[in-house]
Amino acid sequence: MTDKKISEKLIKEFVKNYGTPLFIVSINDLKSRIKNFKNYLPRVMPFYAVKANPCPQIIKLFIDEGLGFDVASKNEIENVLDLGAKPEKMIFANTVKSPEALNTAKRNRIDLMTFDSEYELVKIAKYYPGARVLVRIKVPNIGSVVELSLKFGAEPADAISLLIKAVKLGLKPVGVSFHVGSQCTEVANFIEAIELSSIIFRDALLKKIPLEILDIGGGFPIPHSDTDDDLFPMMAEKISSEIDRLFDVNIKIIAEPGRYLVGPACTLITRVIGKSIRDNKHWYYLDDGVYGCLSGIVYDHCKYQFKVFKKGQTQISTLAGPTCDSFDVISVSEELPELEFGDIVYTTNIGAYSIATATNFNSIPPARVISINQEV
Ligand SMILES: *Cc1c(COP(=O)(O)O)cnc(C)c1O
Repeated sequence: MTDKKISEKLIKEFVKNYGTPLFIVSINDLKSRIKNFKNYLPRVMPFYAVKANPCPQIIKLFIDEGLGFDVASKNEIENVLDLGAKPEKMIFANTVKSPEALNTAKRNRIDLMTFDSEYELVKIAKYYPGARVLVRIKVPNIGSVVELSLKFGAEPADAISLLIKAVKLGLKPVGVSFHVGSQCTEVANFIEAIELSSIIFRDALLKKIPLEILDIGGGFPIPHSDTDDDLFPMMAEKISSEIDRLFDVNIKIIAEPGRYLVGPACTLITRVIGKSIRDNKHWYYLDDGVYGCLSGIVYDHCKYQFKVFKKGQTQISTLAGPTCDSFDVISVSEELPELEFGDIVYTTNIGAYSIATATNFNSIPPARVISINQEV
C-alpha cells in the first residue's frame, strides 16, 4: 500500500517539460484519499484544513467532491470562496481570529467558528453577533508529531461555563471541537477526546444547551516512507465505533483532515545542482531545500524519504538546499549512489505542510506546481 511507484519514464518526461523543482499533485490520488476517508469514517463529514496545502488545483477538486473547508484567516476565506466554495460548508477553525477576518466571515455569512477562551467569545460577539460557536477543548496530544495542545484548547472542566457565557453574549453554542495533534499515531488520543466531548454534551444538555455538532479535528496520520505502516484504517474503525457508542445519530460529526487528504497525493522532484566532498563525505546540493517545499523538515518535524533512479554502490551522503544559509541542510544521512549534476532526487508523500510553508528566501521561488491525472 505504501510502496507507490511513480514511473521513471513519467518523472523524466515531466522534468523535461517543466523543469525542476517540480511539485506534482495527483488528482487521482486526492480522489482516492477522499474515498478512503469516507469509507472508514462514514458518519464524519470532512472539512479540509486549507492550511495543509492551499493550491487552487486541490481546493477546486475538493469543492467538486463536496467537501467542506476549515479556514483560519481572512485570505484563506477569500481564496476558498473565490474558487467557489459555499459559505455554509466552511468552518472558521482558528481560535484566535483577527477583527478583519471576523468581518470577512460575517460579510460572507461564514457563521460557524471555534473558540477556546472568554476573550475570544467577547470578540466574536462584537464582530459577529449571533455566530454559531464550538468550544475547542484541550485534549491529550501524546505521541503526536506536532503538538497543538500546547497552544490551543480550553480546559474541559471550563467548557460548560464558556458555553453558558456564549449564550449570555448572544452567541449560539452548537458544539465541541478538539485537535489531537498532527500526525497522531495514538488512537487513544482520539478515544479520550471523544469521551471528554460526550461528557460536555451531556452536561450542556443538563444546562439546557443542547449541542448538535462534534468536530473531531484533524491529526489523522499517513505513512511518510515506504516502511511506515498505514495506521488510519485501524484508528478510524475505533473512532467510528466510539462515536457510535457515545453520540446519538442526530448529532452531526465533522472533522478537519489536512495531512491525511493531501500528504500522499503529492511528489516533489528536484535535481542536483551542486556537488562537493566535505570531510570525506559527498554533499549534493539540490534545487529545493528547507526554505522551499522541504520546509516541513523544520515546521512539520517531518522525515521524508528521498529516492533516486541512479543505481550503483551507495554511501552515506548529505543533501542540502540551494540557499546561502548553512541551515539549509535537508539530510545528513542519506544512503545514495554517486550522483552527478542534473540527476533527479524525488520525494513522495509530501503534499502537506510543504509548499504551504515554502518561502522566497534568496529570491528562489517555491517549486512549480502541476496537477496530473495519473497516480504518483
Ligand atoms: C492544522 C489543523 C488541522 C489539520 O491538521 P492535520 O493534522 O493536517 O489533519 C485541523 N484543524 C485545525 C484547527 C488545525 O489547526
